[in-house]
Amino acid sequence: MQGGNMASDTVVVIGGGPAGLEAARSLGELGGQVVLVEMEEFLGGTPIRENYAALTPNFRSAEEAMGELIEGMRATGAVEVLTSSQVTACEGESPDFVLTVAGPDGERRVEAGAIILATGFQHFDPGRETQLYGYYEHPDVIALQDLESMLKDHDVVRPSNGLPPKRICFVQCVGSRDRHIGNEYCSKVCCGVASKEAIEVRQLLPDCQVFIFYIDMRMYGYWENQIYWPAQEEHHVQYIKGIITEVLAKGDRLLVRGEDTTMGRPMEVEMDIVVLSVGMEPSPGTRSMAGILGLTQNKYGFVEAIHPPMDTVTTSRRGVFAAGASLGPADLEDCASSAGLAAVKALSILRRKTVAAG
Ligand SMILES: Cc1cc2nc3c(=O)[nH]c(=O)nc-3n(C[C@H](O)[C@H](O)[C@H](O)COP(=O)(O)OP(=O)(O)OC[C@H]3O[C@@H](n4cnc5c(N)ncnc54)[C@H](O)[C@@H]3O)c2cc1C
Ligand code: SF4
Repeated sequence: MQGGNMASDTVVVIGGGPAGLEAARSLGELGGQVVLVEMEEFLGGTPIRENYAALTPNFRSAEEAMGELIEGMRATGAVEVLTSSQVTACEGESPDFVLTVAGPDGERRVEAGAIILATGFQHFDPGRETQLYGYYEHPDVIALQDLESMLKDHDVVRPSNGLPPKRICFVQCVGSRDRHIGNEYCSKVCCGVASKEAIEVRQLLPDCQVFIFYIDMRMYGYWENQIYWPAQEEHHVQYIKGIITEVLAKGDRLLVRGEDTTMGRPMEVEMDIVVLSVGMEPSPGTRSMAGILGLTQNKYGFVEAIHPPMDTVTTSRRGVFAAGASLGPADLEDCASSAGLAAVKALSILRRKTVAAG
């Protein structure tokens, strides 16, 4: 084990996605010292790993937006970034935690007054228990993040034959709001993200018809005006209230079966691409770090905040705070809010420690 970081005024942030980056930047700007531990070789989290194209609500490039966060964090001069690294153990109690961090150069001890967990989410696996959509059987059945990658390359084609699609539909609430699989919660971002992707497809392929099959559309706050109405009125995306029960191959197209719930009748439509609007689940890192740190998780595996609604970041272990999608489904605004709050709460622990020691 290498020599330890002896600074006792350090906050360790685990996870270098939007929430972790914002927490580290806020801490740096407030005069704290930070060690940021990220398991991947790169920073930026899921938006970078999964090649997100443009972000809601302003269609700003995800790469640019994450780049700005990283730059802002580095500009504070207060953040030591450890990539390809993971926390493997945590001893002691706040404000005298001692963490073991395993990285490319071996193990290292890091002393910390407080910890912020920002280990994020993973996409629901659409092959799990929802085989009826044929995600792993039909190449033209894809998920939101697969379409994001295509949009980033400005190349939206049917995976089966490389040709531009004439008809695309989105199926909402895949893996969310589903009691059978135990995910009763709404994943919060997928209605907005599907609508944003629908707009981008219409802009890229004006001849392609785009449909969104939904149970009910859940646009939060300003997304209603920023995304939902323009999608219909300016970009002619067609929203159909319906439940899709099955996707089958029919010739070289896909047959989508379900019920049009407004008309109250069965529905069968042919599509070239079906996009599954998959929900958010805790990442393996969120589950394992919650275990290592001994944090209470809710029944879905997300970290439980113990004093909601005004304090969304304090966990069951003193001195450990959580931010972003490790706490549950979150958009980037939620990440910024919880990261800022976690930074302030973490720093207040260090300040109290300094006062006590002084
Ligand atoms: C398809 C899709 C599109 C989206 N588009 C938008 C959008 O346009 N606008 C919007 O507001 N929101 C969007 N979202 C939501 C947005 O992606 C999330 O709000 C955001 O990524 C959550 O950030 P986070 O930092 O909490 O988690 P993540 O982005 O998941 O980052 C977590 C980080 O922690 C790291 N990590 C995990 N485990 C460990 C570990 N044990 N040790 C060290 N590091 C670890 C990961 O490698 C990762 O870098 C979208 C979501 C989906 C599913
Ligand atoms: S945001 Fe929309 S698609 Fe996602 S779970 Fe909620 S209602 Fe379903």
